[in-house]
Amino acid sequence: MQTDTDVLTAPDLSWRENALCAQAGPEFFFPAPGSSTREAKQLCGACEGRVACLEYALTHDERFGVWGGLSEKERGRLKRQSR
Ligand code: SF4
Repeated sequence: MQTDTDVLTAPDLSWRENALCAQAGPEFFFPAPGSSTREAKQLCGACEGRVACLEYALTHDERFGVWGGLSEKERGRLKRQSR
């Protein structure tokens, strides 16, 4: 049974339904250290859920991989700039 609290706290994850990365495989978006993230970022650039994905990653402090077109270093920089 869903309560009012569940509705208020449940994040909207509908952007995942059309996530282009789901077709590419996790190694593509979670590359080994030092590997290129260029292809993953290109895919993110064409993904309609990019903004919501990036917001999710920033809100949930996702530390690894490419989310919303940004690497972990780029997300860290963005968070520091927004403080
Ligand atoms: S923006 Fe990139 S990481 Fe996020 S759902 Fe789309 S393809 Fe996946």
